[in-house]
Amino acid sequence: MSDSPVILMIEDERSMRRFLLALLVGHGFRVFEATSGEEGLTLAASHSPDVILLDIGLPGIDGLEVTRRIREWTQTPIIVLSARGLEEDKVRALDLGADDYLTKPFGASELLARVRVALRHAARRASAEADPLIVIADLEIDLAARIVRARGEEVHLTPTEYRLLSLLARYAGRVLTHHQILEEVWGPSARGREHYVRVHMSQLRRKIEEDPAQPQYILTEIGVGYRLRAEL
Ligand code: CA
Repeated sequence: MSDSPVILMIEDERSMRRFLLALLVGHGFRVFEATSGEEGLTLAASHSPDVILLDIGLPGIDGLEVTRRIREWTQTPIIVLSARGLEEDKVRALDLGADDYLTKPFGASELLARVRVALRHAARRASAEADPLIVIADLEIDLAARIVRARGEEVHLTPTEYRLLSLLARYAGRVLTHHQILEEVWGPSARGREHYVRVHMSQLRRKIEEDPAQPQYILTEIGVGYRLRAEL
């Protein structure tokens, strides 16, 4: 069992810890539990988890501060667990370097899917040569050749649209905040111009989605940002 991934959960709510523990152990993960941010930081350092599940609302130092401190020394994927209605907190956590979020209450399959995406990302980051060809159903993004095909046809993208799509593709399955997208595609001088993202995203969708009104590839995360599906 020593090869099974290690998950650290940092959560003060007992019923949530019990739910997560039963689910994750039942799926072959090794799990460590921390009930406060301080304990979480200690266990993150001593147990080198593969994924960290982090509640934002914790007694003592909260999940945002835990995210900030963990990111000072490791890129271990962090999935934040946030309460409904606290959109600002989860966006801040993502901007601080968290990889993904789940809004409580969430289902077992949703949690497992997010954990698997996080593990795949960590593995891809660890391997020296990332696969330059990303295929999601009928969408193909060749990062080496800079060619995009949708339903077998080459799609002609502007340089900005291509930067946008290749960014989403490199993080397929993961949510990216408006702020992160703006910073990566347009650079720090575009700070605050979230409408750039909206405008170019809708142009991009018109080119790659079969029905841009009901996007299959690029999903909107309301109040947070966008996510390119890793599989359909
Ligand atoms: Ca809590």
